[in-house]
Amino acid sequence: MRVLVTGGAGFLGSHLCERLLADGHTVICADNLITGCLNNIAGFSADARFRFEPQDICRPFDFGPVEFIYDFASPASPVDYMKWGLQTLEVGSAGTRNCLELALKYRAGFLLASTSECYGDPDVHPQPESYWGHVNPIGTRSVYDEAKRFSEALTMAYHRYRGVDTRIVRIFNTYGPRLQIDDGRVISNFMKQALLGDELTIYGDGRQTRSFCYVSDEIEGIMRLAASHENLPTNIGNPSEFTVLECAQAVLDITGSASKLVFRPLPEDDPKQRCPDITKAKSILGWEPRIDLPTGLGLSVDYFRQALLAPTRDPAVPAT
Ligand code: UDP
Repeated sequence: MRVLVTGGAGFLGSHLCERLLADGHTVICADNLITGCLNNIAGFSADARFRFEPQDICRPFDFGPVEFIYDFASPASPVDYMKWGLQTLEVGSAGTRNCLELALKYRAGFLLASTSECYGDPDVHPQPESYWGHVNPIGTRSVYDEAKRFSEALTMAYHRYRGVDTRIVRIFNTYGPRLQIDDGRVISNFMKQALLGDELTIYGDGRQTRSFCYVSDEIEGIMRLAASHENLPTNIGNPSEFTVLECAQAVLDITGSASKLVFRPLPEDDPKQRCPDITKAKSILGWEPRIDLPTGLGLSVDYFRQALLAPTRDPAVPAT
């Protein structure tokens, strides 16, 4: 197949491109590099079946016929989407609409990278796809949460009114090589701090929970969803739940670091708990994650060591 991956130079997007190439597809990767990074695609950018297009997908674009579109373009870490708030709202609305129009034009399949943030600070636990969420529409996280909720609504509308063959994956916290060392996420921060011997910054009391999925498990789930005929949202995440304190300890164990913990204020609207109910993915995709947190951290530690030696961010393109 000839496929388009938007946000293809990002963390998940680049792993997706690599997997699609390995599966024999021809891949066009579109990215404006505000949070993506050319280093992420350096390992396969010389492949004749791969093409990088520096493109802001909020502006009109068309790289010719494609059979499938993976829409992964968006800042996704809280630090990044709060820095690029207007761009995040724009890419989840105009950007996703441009992709859906292309899918309509070429009768291509379409998969939206959505998020557990659609559930907000959930009062149902764990979160099944049927839960509508508990989201602050005007808080600091709203630029991401509401952008993704809108892009889900847009995706369902193109499915219902235009007959586009769509999928929606709700992605929970994912980690692994190619996470930007300075993206502010909990795993990147803790890895960096542990490897440098700095204090690990625990926000709040550290008892809030997250459920961490290793990147290869996440990509496998996404590929299976793409190959399915499921149009309604599907959670893909690891249901093993950890407090932030437990996560800090796991990072200290894997790095052998003697770093101490330091407590900092909890950011606004930081969800107290987050854990996917993956009953649906198990039953319709036969998917469940295989890599537990200590194993996944072990697979990531060399990458973080390298990333500390050579910062990888590309100069950001001018904001639109
Ligand atoms: N967090 C933390 N220390 C850090 C970075 C994050 O305690 O240095 C906490 C953060 O407050 C949140 C959790 O770790 O409760 C996960 O944060 P992250 O930014 O990775 O993503 P989120 O799941 O909030 O989107």
